[in-house]
Amino acid sequence: MLEIENLCFRYSRRGPLVLDGVNLELKDGEIGILLGKNGSGKTTLFKTILGIEKPESGAIRFDGEDLLRMNRRERARRIAYVPQSIHFGALSVYDTVLMGRVSYFGYKAGREDETAVETILRDMKLEDYAARNVEELSGGERQKIAIARALAQEPRLLVFDEPTGNLDIANEQLILSEARRVAREKGIGILTSLHDLNQALELGDRFFFMKDGQIRHAGGKEIVTEAVIFETFDAEVRIVKIEGKKIIINGGQKP
Ligand code: ADP
Repeated sequence: MLEIENLCFRYSRRGPLVLDGVNLELKDGEIGILLGKNGSGKTTLFKTILGIEKPESGAIRFDGEDLLRMNRRERARRIAYVPQSIHFGALSVYDTVLMGRVSYFGYKAGREDETAVETILRDMKLEDYAARNVEELSGGERQKIAIARALAQEPRLLVFDEPTGNLDIANEQLILSEARRVAREKGIGILTSLHDLNQALELGDRFFFMKDGQIRHAGGKEIVTEAVIFETFDAEVRIVKIEGKKIIINGGQKP
């Protein structure tokens, strides 16, 4: 679905390469997780995929088509961005989600758009929220609305930048399970960054370890090792297996 090849980017002509030959591949319905220190280039990579920043060289293809040549509307039908929180003024949940249909309806929503919104609200168990003002909801609820709005775009890929950044643990779980549901039930791909390595292992199918603007390691859960984490974060961890699942423990000092 998404193929990124040798992507290079810098913010200013004489500045450093912030993306330095990035290669990444994500298949339909896969959940891909970018892992890397602050400043390693994760947000910048998202911005190039979303068309907010133009790369200096390299290619981004979506189902073989050049994403860099698509206009906003064409791109919006393939890729939706889920921001950390929505600031949309005093709109109802219903209208906020309907905004996700803009690339379909232009300026006036039709019956089809309303049906799409109603289906999403029902699937996400948000019907009771439809008339409520988004600004009055909790952080986790707003994040869920942000996902609903992105889904209204009927994208093939959702891009999240640190989806659980300012959420408490219950809301974190809510958002992660919603992300998983969307990927599994609807076959929508997800590309996200996460700070919490255990959350990453819970959610991800593919892992991309980023350092200094490069993806140094890419692969399934098997590539998440103590050595790769040390190389990426300069942090010692220990990985243990509990009930067949890898669990990452901070510290790493062996008894
Ligand atoms: P991450 O998301 O992994 O924390 P970013 O993509 O935000 O990393 O940042 C990568 C590098 O690009 C950092 O060195 C950061 O300082 C720099 N950077 C980010 N945004 C800008 C900008 N608008 N102008 C110049 N440099 C930037």
